[in-house]
Amino acid sequence: MFTGPLRALIDELGRLPGIGPKSAQRIAFHILKVPTEDAHRLSDAIVAVKERTTLCERCFNVAEGGALCAICSDDQRDGTILCVVEDPRDIVAVERTAQFVGRYHVLGGALNPLEGVGPEQLKVRELLARIDDGQVKEVIVCTNPNLEGEATAMYVSRLLTPLGVVVSKLASGLPVGGDLEYADELTLGRALEGRRTIEA
Ligand SMILES: [Zn+2]
Repeated sequence: MFTGPLRALIDELGRLPGIGPKSAQRIAFHILKVPTEDAHRLSDAIVAVKERTTLCERCFNVAEGGALCAICSDDQRDGTILCVVEDPRDIVAVERTAQFVGRYHVLGGALNPLEGVGPEQLKVRELLARIDDGQVKEVIVCTNPNLEGEATAMYVSRLLTPLGVVVSKLASGLPVGGDLEYADELTLGRALEGRRTIEA
């Protein structure tokens, strides 16, 4: 129905998560209508995020303009306690609770054999390497409260407990099947405070 640049824009927008063909069309026509400066701001932001943002080489959080993220570069953070999350967005959720002073490790997902996600697809080896340094005493596994998140928490605890690390997980109270990033800070803060050691 559409050709040329408009078709290309609709196609690209349609590849984005949560954007169906109708929304892609609606957004494309919106961009067509806005002032050129606004469209440039959008395209500049997309290019900038690709050029200037990387993943932290230690914890795989988002890092801006350096090898390490802001949390890994912060000397005030407690290096003996590590919060393991699935996604950098979960770090934002935990930080909002203002209850965690340690550092993070982003796995990059959760175990999901049906979708071909095994330990090799996650930053598990990198996590083990960090534990090997001997500084970390406790690991809190803050994976999502769903099947994959639970399986991942269990897997991590089986790996780490024999290494002499206390592995705990969030207390129940979070909506089951939900996403950590949508949890309100009060509920998540309580779950963090009431964390329980995983019996591996
Ligand atoms: Zn980092």
